[in-house]
Parts: sequence; structure tokens; C-alpha cells
Amino acid sequence: MSYGFVDKVTISVYAGKGGDGAVTFHREKFVAAGGPDGGDGGRGGDVILVVDDHMSTLMDFRYKRKFTAANGENGLNKRCSGKDGANVTIRVPRGTLVRDKATGSIMADMSTGEPFVAARGGRGGWGNQHFATPTRQVPRFAKPGMPGESHELILELKLLADVGLVGFPNVGKSTLLASVSRARPKIADYHFTTLSPNLGVVYVAEGASFVLADIPGIIEGASEGAGLGHDFLRHIDRCRLLIHVVDVSGSEGRDPIEDFETINRELTDYSPTLASRPQIVAGNKCDLLGDDRGPIERLKKHVEGLGYEFFELSAATTAGTKELMQRAAAMLSSLPPIAVYEPDYVPPAPDLGSPEDVEIEEDDGVWYVSGPWMDRLVSTVNFTDYESRMYFDKSLRDAGIYERMEALGIHDGDTISICGMTFEYKS
Ligand code: GDP
Ligand code: MG
Repeated sequence: MSYGFVDKVTISVYAGKGGDGAVTFHREKFVAAGGPDGGDGGRGGDVILVVDDHMSTLMDFRYKRKFTAANGENGLNKRCSGKDGANVTIRVPRGTLVRDKATGSIMADMSTGEPFVAARGGRGGWGNQHFATPTRQVPRFAKPGMPGESHELILELKLLADVGLVGFPNVGKSTLLASVSRARPKIADYHFTTLSPNLGVVYVAEGASFVLADIPGIIEGASEGAGLGHDFLRHIDRCRLLIHVVDVSGSEGRDPIEDFETINRELTDYSPTLASRPQIVAGNKCDLLGDDRGPIERLKKHVEGLGYEFFELSAATTAGTKELMQRAAAMLSSLPPIAVYEPDYVPPAPDLGSPEDVEIEEDDGVWYVSGPWMDRLVSTVNFTDYESRMYFDKSLRDAGIYERMEALGIHDGDTISICGMTFEYKS
């Protein structure tokens, strides 16, 4: 795409893995083997999105699209926990919508300023200090750290403008924005559509202000994909009020009523919701009208007949701009607030696996047992607790895991390795 701005990007976020628990033993002179003192692994770092009000585009994501938080460090001896992995913070402009790429569902709306944890770091594993019990004096196992979450996210910038300026190119939208706010958009004498949406804050009276957005790019056929139309239109999704600017000077030889209808058709094709927003019509370039007030009177009659309010304007001389902005502010005060999108993301159900899919591999007397079903079982077992360990043993037996290993020739005294923990096999 050749747009001069970026307002929709895909990024990948990877939280850190939890550190592994340590298998270590307390050493003392003249003591053969002390108690287990392996520390826990550190937590993996999170990937967190925060609002940065100094940002107004997603441009920064053009080159950096992958964000990885640090892994937790492994546990150490002497009951020392590994260090937690550092979080990664991603700054986004206010109004950024965060979607899960796989489902398209909304995970967060970065409008409120609340940080959003996009990927959670994995828990650190327990060191063998936790597994010292009278029945297992020498716990040679510790729990491994859990993997961190990862996601592909679509960031979509929806500017939080209250009022959107719509109209054909060259009708004077940028000029109007510049004359009523401090925004300094490019103003062109030709059919050049400004390459980034411009925002300005309009102060109408003590304490009353609103955000005005110049929405360039609505041209005929935009809804069928021609021109820049749709990508820009996304920015006005949240506008509560539209000011529809029409060139009434006839300086470009076009018909104001036809222009007005064309733009409204484009709006409806793009989004019926947007088209249904209240609209004020502004007939611009009135300073160019000679004695022939025919075009402006016709437009006024036409739009008032349709129920719209009409304002005469000269953005260039600022005549009429104050009245228009005051009316816009008054209308806004009685319109509902900007919609905040409700998250509708449902985390996918974890892969529970089934015992049939458990893989068993033997290597030099060590039997490696693995698979999602196994991981889940291990995560539910408290290995410091006798009952819990018996339940684990029974679950393996019931699921036929021992039977399969026996059929493959496991011997008493062989080692079974599950999720990084090792056990001795006894029939
Ligand atoms: P946009 O494409 O709708 O943003 O239009 P611009 O604001 O860039 O204006 C296009 C051209 O119309 C520029 O040359 C402006 O100087 C001119 N223009 C805008 N408003 C007025 C106006 O009220 N009177 C006159 N005479 N020219 C205007
Ligand atoms: Mg413009």
C-alpha cells in the first residue's frame, strides 16, 4: 500500500517463559546429602499495551512488529528464586482498537487509558525445596516453568474525534480545520487528498471544546475500493456529528446538490450507522459567490427540505465559521458520548488432549512421557501431597500409560520422565 500513514498493523507479542525450578541439595561439610533446597523459577515477563497521548499514528509499528518479553530465570540453590523476566511495554495512540488476528474479535479498546496485558508471562516452576516430604527424602525433580502466552494482534487506530468533516476534495475542509483550530493541515489548490487525517481541538467558549477531524478521501466509488476512501473513513467511525462541507462557488464547475448526494451515498455504502449520524451542511466559499446566489439557495432549500441545518461559510475569510462551531458544540452537548468498544474476545479452550495421544519414548533406560493430556494432569497435581501423588499414579494407571510402557518393556528401576520431573518405576 502506498499510503503515507499507517493506521492498521499486525504485530506479534510473546510473553516470557517461566524459569524452571531448580533441583539442588544443601551441602554441608561432613553431611553426605542435605535437604533439597532448589529455588523456584522466576515468572516470565508480560507484554503490556499502554496509551501514549503523544502518539497519533501507528507509524512506529511499520518496522518493529515483534515484541518479546524476557523469560524468567531458572531457580537457584539455597532456595533462591530465579529473577522474574522484565515486562515489555508497547505504546499506542489513544483510541487504538486491539483485535485477536485469528478470530477478529476485540480484545481491548485503548480509549480509557487502562493498560492492557496482551500476553501473560508463564509461571515459574517450583524448585525441589517444595518436594521434601518424609516419603520422598531425595526429590530429584522440580517443575518446569510454564510457557508464556503469545498472540498475533491487529492494532487499528480509531481516532476519537467528536466531529468529522466530510465532503469532496478541494471543498475547503482543511482550510476550515485550520481556521477554527491550531491544526495546520496541508491546503491544496488541486485534487490532492491529504495523506493523514488531521485533528484539531476547537475551543468555542470557556471550558467548551471538541475534537474536529478532517476526513479527506471520500470520493465517488470509494466504497467499491477506488481511492483512499475506506481507510480514511475508518477514522470517523466514532464521530458523533458530521459537518458536510459543500463548495457552493461553482469554481470547479460542479453541482453542489449532486456533490452533496454523492458523498452521502458513499457514506451509506460504507456504513449505514455513520450515515445516520447527525449532519450539519456547510456551504463553503461564499466569498466567491458573485451576484448569482442561485446555487447556494438551491442547496439550502434542498438540504433544509431533508431536515438538515444549513450554514453559509467562507473558510478562507472565516465568515460564518464561529456560528458553525458554536452550533456544533451545542449539538454535541445533547448527543450521546463516543462509543467504547466492548471486548468480545473469548480465549480459546485449552487443548486438553487425550491419553491416547500421549507419546512415550525410551532412551537409555529413561522413559519420556509427553503430550497435552500429560501436561494438564501434572498441573493439577500437588507433588508435596501424598494423596495427590497417589491420584497422579492412579491416573497414569487408569489411562493405560503404565500398561503401554510395560508392553514396551519397562523394567523396575527405570526412570520415567514427565514434564521435566523424574520418577523411578516400580511395578
Ligand atoms: P479540502 O480538500 O476539502 O481539504 O480543501 P482545502 O482546504 O485544501 O481547499 C482547497 C482550495 O480551496 C484551497 O486552495 C483553498 O485555499 C481554497 N478554499 C478553501 N476554502 C475557501 C473559501 O472559503 N473561499 C475561497 N475563496 N477559497 C477557499
Ligand atoms: Mg484537505
